[in-house]
Amino acid sequence: MAAFGAMGVREVRAGLAAKEFSAREVAEDALSRIKAVDPQIHAFLEVTEEAAYAQAAKVDEAIAAGRLAEMGPLAGVPVAFKDNMNMEGTHTTCSSRMLENYVSPYTATCVANTIAAGGIPLGKLNMDEFAFGSSTESSAFGITRNPWDLERVPGGSSGGSAAAVAAGLATITLGSDTGGSIRQPGSFCGIVAVKPTYGTVSRYGVVAFGSSLDQVGPFARSVEDAALALNALAGHDPLDCTSQDIRTDFTANLAEGAKGLKVGIVPAFMEAEGLDAEVRDKVAEAARQLEQLGAELVEVDLPNAQAAMSAYYVLGPCEAFSNLARFDSVRYGYCAEGHKDLGGQYEDSRATGFGPEARRRIMLGSYLLSAGVYEKYYYPAQQVRTLITQDYVRAYEKVDVILAPVSPRTAFKFGEISDPTTMYLSDMFTISINIAGNGGMNMPVGLGAESGMPVGVQLISPQFKDENMLRAAAALETVYGPAPVAPAFCPER
Ligand code: GLN
Repeated sequence: MAAFGAMGVREVRAGLAAKEFSAREVAEDALSRIKAVDPQIHAFLEVTEEAAYAQAAKVDEAIAAGRLAEMGPLAGVPVAFKDNMNMEGTHTTCSSRMLENYVSPYTATCVANTIAAGGIPLGKLNMDEFAFGSSTESSAFGITRNPWDLERVPGGSSGGSAAAVAAGLATITLGSDTGGSIRQPGSFCGIVAVKPTYGTVSRYGVVAFGSSLDQVGPFARSVEDAALALNALAGHDPLDCTSQDIRTDFTANLAEGAKGLKVGIVPAFMEAEGLDAEVRDKVAEAARQLEQLGAELVEVDLPNAQAAMSAYYVLGPCEAFSNLARFDSVRYGYCAEGHKDLGGQYEDSRATGFGPEARRRIMLGSYLLSAGVYEKYYYPAQQVRTLITQDYVRAYEKVDVILAPVSPRTAFKFGEISDPTTMYLSDMFTISINIAGNGGMNMPVGLGAESGMPVGVQLISPQFKDENMLRAAAALETVYGPAPVAPAFCPER
């Protein structure tokens, strides 16, 4: 099997250009590999065979007409989408019983842009229910396994998106990140995973969790592939007033290296309680590598970052509570039968349609926004948000990019973390970036000395300077190499 899902963007394009294979063959092979391999991993909730072949036919037509050069940056590349992204005619379940039978009547802008760029859509990917979680264990449709060790979680909430790329089932997938849901599964599965600056990618058609925090971004096995995906994704969308008119070529400075780059290190992050030694060692090693490549390491302080977790678990549930109000069994969502009164139907539908974590967030949000409580929590959380944002602005007066851990530890075993607050700590190093709206990404830097599982470092950019973190990541890639497909799923060439 050729395993096109295990190829990079450049490799696919070169093969298509040289007519070594057709886009139809790419689609056929990718779909049959999903059939053969995915039952072990369960990254996919739905496979979109028809859409894949239709798109492949378009790409092949363009090639036959000598127009490959005009096709977008992802021409013929196998792609797939987190199941909170609408794609017309597919189920968009958010891994919830609430939306089990919901079929998208329209397509999210991020999905449309990926397909317009030539990507071959393979399907929809598993996630934590409504993106609440860090392990994909809260999906109503079963767990996703980590391709590096099938007994371990892939991270979450975009666990399916990360596992699909790590297993070589797709070249690019999309995820969403509200507090760490792109970067943390990226680190658990050992791949490049980018949460760009808030406003870079349109959220139109992506089922909202926390509208002021949510951002869509790509998973890939190389920095260049992620940058090419960002080129396809970024830009203003009249349907999302928070999206910005971005014309950056995210690949432009990947070859510049780290020379002269000022890299911030946050001592409080490196000394944080709960950070495993094997992760700390890898972050320190990556810092030394960047220094050897000519970067200058500078210590920076983010004095209010330790309050990010508290602010997030006020703001996140408040926004989630408001956003999830639409799933009322009338306008959207599962409807419990047999009720004569609307109140009973509403209560029963929401009690059975939502899983435990979604219910927890809704209850928390409704409490926090109630009269008398709002002033005590929501308002101060917004003030903390401003302080954290200012911390980052000050730090970036001294540095171009910040280097930090992504997750305090490598991928854990199924069931190992059952207490919600311990699970919430998975995002202790990623959440402040959503609060401030900056760009953040995971860059894989090999395996942990203790666990033997992938470890990633986080690179954090000033707002709308995502090219800085991509440049630092590309420099690290010259040392650590592009991310491999997980050994057990490495196709024979
Ligand atoms: N793990 C965090 C949460 O449960 C972040 C999730 C996300 O980024 N969608 O809220």
